[in-house]
Amino acid sequence: MSDPAIDDRAVAPAVMRGLGGRCPACGQARLFGRFLKPAATCPGCGQDWSHQCADDFPAYLVIIVLGHLLLPIVIEVNHLFAPAMGVQMLLWPLLAATLALLLIQPAKGAVIAFQWARRMHGFGAPRP
Ligand SMILES: [Zn+2]
Repeated sequence: MSDPAIDDRAVAPAVMRGLGGRCPACGQARLFGRFLKPAATCPGCGQDWSHQCADDFPAYLVIIVLGHLLLPIVIEVNHLFAPAMGVQMLLWPLLAATLALLLIQPAKGAVIAFQWARRMHGFGAPRP
């Protein structure tokens, strides 16, 4: 059964706005004040983002995605080109770090958006 108190916040649009770094509630303002620190409140709709509790989950998501993305590429590049070990020692860590930096903010935005949409942690309606 669905709970109407939870279902009034659509998950997919909120997560898409969070992936783009926009406020999951209104989509009008930036979610992050700094690289990985959400703004205290949304200047567009006033949503309080201090309730977010993403913790390490965005990093776990990035590790899982990058692991599944990079490992086949590393294997295939080694199979096709057999680059020198020195090249690989420079290439793969740089590529992994660059991709991780590119993915971590969208991952955190998506996690915060999901928490908001499902009313997790302090995002729930006040109890009567
Ligand atoms: Zn907003």
